[in-house]
Amino acid sequence: YSERYFEILEKRKTLPVWQQKDRFVDILSKNQIMIVVGDTGSGKTTQIPQFVVEAGYATNRKQVACTQPRRVAATSVSRRVADEMDVMIGAEVGYSIRFEDCCGRKTILKYLTDGMLLKEAKTDPLLERYNVIILDEAHERTLSTDVLFGLLKRILNCRPDLKLVVMSATLESKKFQGYFNGAPVLRVPGRLHPVDIFYSEFPEKNYFEAAIRTVVQIHACEPPGDILLFLTGEEEIEDACMKIRNGIRNFGDHIGPVKVLPLYSSLPPTVQHRIFESAPPPQKEGGPPGRKIVISTNIAETSLTIDGIVYVVDPGFSKQKLYNPRIRQESLLVCPISKASAEQRAGRAGRTQPGKCFRLYTVESFQDQLPSQTLPEILRSNLANVVLTLKKVGIDDLVHFDFMDPPAPETLMRALEQLNYLGAMDDDGNLTEMGMLMSEFPLDPQMSKMLVVSPKFNCSHEILSITAMLSVPNCFLRPREARKAADEAKARFAHVDGDHLTLLNIYHAYKENEEDPSWCCENFLNIRALQSAANVRSQLLGIMNRHNLKISSTQFTHPNYYPNIRKAIVTGYFMQVAHLEQSGHYLTVKDNLMVHLHPSTCLDHKPQWVLYGELVLDSTERSSIRMVTDVKGDWLIDLASQYYDMLNFPQCEARRALMRVYEKRGRGI
Ligand code: ADP
Ligand code: MG
Repeated sequence: YSERYFEILEKRKTLPVWQQKDRFVDILSKNQIMIVVGDTGSGKTTQIPQFVVEAGYATNRKQVACTQPRRVAATSVSRRVADEMDVMIGAEVGYSIRFEDCCGRKTILKYLTDGMLLKEAKTDPLLERYNVIILDEAHERTLSTDVLFGLLKRILNCRPDLKLVVMSATLESKKFQGYFNGAPVLRVPGRLHPVDIFYSEFPEKNYFEAAIRTVVQIHACEPPGDILLFLTGEEEIEDACMKIRNGIRNFGDHIGPVKVLPLYSSLPPTVQHRIFESAPPPQKEGGPPGRKIVISTNIAETSLTIDGIVYVVDPGFSKQKLYNPRIRQESLLVCPISKASAEQRAGRAGRTQPGKCFRLYTVESFQDQLPSQTLPEILRSNLANVVLTLKKVGIDDLVHFDFMDPPAPETLMRALEQLNYLGAMDDDGNLTEMGMLMSEFPLDPQMSKMLVVSPKFNCSHEILSITAMLSVPNCFLRPREARKAADEAKARFAHVDGDHLTLLNIYHAYKENEEDPSWCCENFLNIRALQSAANVRSQLLGIMNRHNLKISSTQFTHPNYYPNIRKAIVTGYFMQVAHLEQSGHYLTVKDNLMVHLHPSTCLDHKPQWVLYGELVLDSTERSSIRMVTDVKGDWLIDLASQYYDMLNFPQCEARRALMRVYEKRGRGI
């Protein structure tokens, strides 16, 4: 072993789980299922899987799996563990996330997202390649983890040789214990220092501005210690990084230097990794000390532990998925966090020494307005993909599937209905051939549908590129200091028929200029996003080839080149269509919601009918639709009239407009 190995080993030995090693191995040997509960940072994610491997469970060419709800956690933790075991990542320790597999023939310990394990179950229904499966961060109750709960309970009945470890950061183990047949719980005693909590005296008008102000104040006035600020997403975080750097610069030499670091999921791994660096040294000897300031989404709440944090700033919001089955709509919305989340966030301040947490809301609103727990994701999601997966695994009776929190029957109905409209499921609820094909793709049903039908429209090459572009982080860079230039660059790629075709233009231009290292930068495009789009595309192409889906293109000069592509998109997304009203706004066909075109669209006119990829709900009247493409009323009738026929919204203006299209052609729906 290297010197570094022993250095890290000393640090590992100080983690609270280290003391529990023998007890853990003992309980595991005597039980098929066990639960481990311990504070964030106690060493569960990095150490427990190593204990399992050391105890000899990785045998017979069978691996140990440890799931993570977040891609960042899976990659970052596996790298750390490879370091700790003194091996290369991808050798004994690997990771697997959607579109990226870093495992090899030697791999015995695999960190993977819960979504990937679920995907593996589709081709390996008893998960036979594993001896031990660890479901980590169970308290997060993500959609995939909840589905895995139910699936694994069934699998364990068929496989007495398989063991399951459920790990959670909260003490709410009663519910887990009840669900997992009274499995024993190993509690790892915490080691948290006290954290003083400060509330805002009055409600903040603008949590973002308040957060910036608080961080700058802490740096100017508080003793040494790093700062962690929670915000809701990429744009907000990048904006805050800049404002905080500027705010601190105004103080000149009176205060110490800072390292302001963003953390969100679409950030390149090398940049993400910087959060583990230490604070900068003082500018001159004896000068004011430096500070690390991390600005993060929920990732830093429990998934990743950053050492050295003493101050936490918690504005009390996070971006959450919401689903309203009545209007068949899933969307991301900035919502107040739960009390449990607020406690976790505060806890981040007490890892290394006593800390402080600044809550940017009043104590009254904490007590009276925050829900005690976040609702499990399964109760806030469109379940079409879950239903497709379960059907593929061979589970027919969804109503009696053993969910820890069963979703509303209406939500399940909506999922079945959507799959039925997409032709993935017949009227008896059985997967059709189309459904089988769709379930092969690691994509949302609308996207897999448009891929599967693309050969029919002679445009599979183009739909592959568009799907790949839709599956990677936003490729447009828009630095604050060069917004105008960035917008002009984007406009050069704009396609008159909308954003999907604009993505296609960009992909083509990127491939033509791939050799030119400065091309992306000059055009304000995120090179990493485009590189991963190319990678995603080749994987999707592989799946198409394996299933004999024809890969073809219409001649570029043919007048149907673009219409064919748009028709293929309609075939997947016909449920997400809106009609232009005289007043200048749009109404969605399926639920009569008033929406506007999102300012990011490159459409320079307002088409009669548009298809949209995403709906951004707003608490005010300004809900908007993103990723918009001009479509023809006639196509909607040709490709989806059966679906519109089933919808019955007598009050819906947009539907009446669709009827008029139909009547003009001399046929009634
Ligand atoms: P838990 O899962 O209980 O929250 P972890 O196993 O994730 O705890 O973390 C235990 C410790 O490992 C952390 O406190 C941190 O010191 C260290 N650690 C984890 N990941 C990294 C990393 N990428 N770089 C450096 N240290 C790390
Ligand atoms: Mg963990």
